[in-house]
Formats: sequence, C-alpha cells, structure tokens
Amino acid sequence: MTTDTDASTDWLLDDGLAPQSDGDPMAPLYDGAARGELVLPFCIGCDCPLDLEQQVCDRCGSFEKAWRSTELVGTVHSSTLMHRLETGLVRTTTPYPIVDVELAGGHRLIMTTIDPTSTAPRIGDAVIVGFRTLGGVSIPAARIIAAPLDTEARS
Ligand SMILES: [Zn+2]
Repeated sequence: MTTDTDASTDWLLDDGLAPQSDGDPMAPLYDGAARGELVLPFCIGCDCPLDLEQQVCDRCGSFEKAWRSTELVGTVHSSTLMHRLETGLVRTTTPYPIVDVELAGGHRLIMTTIDPTSTAPRIGDAVIVGFRTLGGVSIPAARIIAAPLDTEARS
C-alpha cells in the first residue's frame, strides 16, 4: 500500500479506471477538463443543455450538438454515500459521496468530491466544480460550499 499524498494519484479510483480519450464520445469533456474548463453538450437547434449521452434534443428534436464551456458553479441536487470495498479498483476503504450537481448553466452532472470525505453534502449546498486527475485524465469533481445551517450551533 502507498500513501495518497501524491497529488497525481486520485484518492478514489485506481488509475486503470481512467477514461480512454481515443474515440470516446466524452472526449470534449476530458479535453476541456485538461484546460480547467467544464465543457458540456448543448443543442445546436435551440441551445438547451443536453445530458452527456443524449442523442436527440427533447425540446426541438435536433440531433446536433455543440460542446461548449459552461460555468463552474452549481448546487447539490441530490447526494448519496457509496459504500464500496473493491480492492484494486477503489482506493478508499471508507464510504464516499456521489453528488448530482445542478449546474448554473442548466446541466446536471454526477461527480464525487475533489477531496476525500465520508460525508454526503446536503441538498442545496453550493458547488464549485474543480477536477480530479485519474491516470492523467482530468475529470470534474465537486468542492462543496456548505450552506449555512438554519440553526447556528457555535461553541
Ligand atoms: Zn434543441
């Protein structure tokens, strides 16, 4: 076992699970992430945000999409804690969050956090999108800015 202090080593997954950019339909996403940009598909016909694997626009029926840079901010739409022990694939041995982020640009994107944590963020928490590096490939990840609690519990 090695320690995870090396910044080039992802905290969550083994490098072998890195996406292969050659011929991957998500290549624009990974190419953008390498530049620190969040590049996602929009409909060419009506400019509405499309899901990553969406082939046809729900609104106008267009089959054409354009990948464009979008804002690196959003909010937590939903979140859950994954309990998964899978030696050789998953590095962490503690539960980790999976967060469905509603982005300011209208997309929804599922990601984990930039830094290891065993706490799921709360719905409505603010998210700044950053990137993890997995096997040399940059992939979007969330930095959670916790919303203020309704009842402050300061000591
Ligand atoms: Zn459309």
